[in-house]
Amino acid sequence: MNRLTPVRGRFAPSPTGSLHLGSLLAALGSYLHAKIQGGEWWLRIEDVDRDREVPSAAQSQLDSLRRFGLQWDGEVVRQSARDALYQAALDNLLARDLAFECHCSRNDLAASAGLHHDCLARSKRPQPAFRFRVATGCKVAFHDEILGPQSQQVDREVGDFVLKRADGHWAYQLAVVVDDGAQGITEVVRGADLVDSTARQILLQKALGLPTPRYLHLPLLLDENGRKLSKSLAALPLDAGDALPALRLVWQALGQPAAAVAAAANPKQFLSLALANFEPSRIPTRPSALHNMVFTNPA
Ligand code: GLU
Repeated sequence: MNRLTPVRGRFAPSPTGSLHLGSLLAALGSYLHAKIQGGEWWLRIEDVDRDREVPSAAQSQLDSLRRFGLQWDGEVVRQSARDALYQAALDNLLARDLAFECHCSRNDLAASAGLHHDCLARSKRPQPAFRFRVATGCKVAFHDEILGPQSQQVDREVGDFVLKRADGHWAYQLAVVVDDGAQGITEVVRGADLVDSTARQILLQKALGLPTPRYLHLPLLLDENGRKLSKSLAALPLDAGDALPALRLVWQALGQPAAAVAAAANPKQFLSLALANFEPSRIPTRPSALHNMVFTNPA
């Protein structure tokens, strides 16, 4: 990364429900990582999948972030307003034969475990999907600043991947790459559930002539049964009550010492102590078990 390039991180929630502890962890981790470098922290609402969108979820997420004191820079970007950018990227790839129209159904791909290598469809669908062409033997290696060296054999593990779905929705992979590029994002700090998408995103960046940001994938939060904390687990509502216990909890899940923020009496004080004490090298590589972290606010 060029030293003159300003650091710009982002938080990119999908509006499928209220902010939960897992998304707060990504929000706080990406915020602190950008801010300790004097960088900016942008917010992008990833609402390309209108079928999964919950009305008012985006507004509730913005309200929660404000309540946690996590103030973003710049205007909030909404993917639903950016069709033209995604279409231009797809047209660019189609023109260079790096993407193709695909009429295959799930049934057609069942024999290859859902992976697409060659078009097998015998009939045309009224509305095709569009896929990125992954060359045979395509392997992507990258460095994750928390997890270390990563690689994926994209042809064998993923196959030709969807850029625009047959139902007309833009795929996450295309939208995220176009937006990270257009917004000048220099570092992507997000949950480890997305590490698997990174190789596809790097392939798309290269095909579109976009720079590859730094990547840091944060530990997932597990519930008491060792399962990933999902948005469906309503056990830990973030929309009610005091913001501090949740902030303390995700701070510890980021591997940071509880004592460093113990004196905070409100989110503003918490964030200033957190910024003064955040040390990315402490972030664990393994998932964090929530039941090992019990917090009460200091009286
Ligand atoms: N919108 C994705 C999510 O809520 C995050 C995408 C990203 O950070 O790249 O899981």
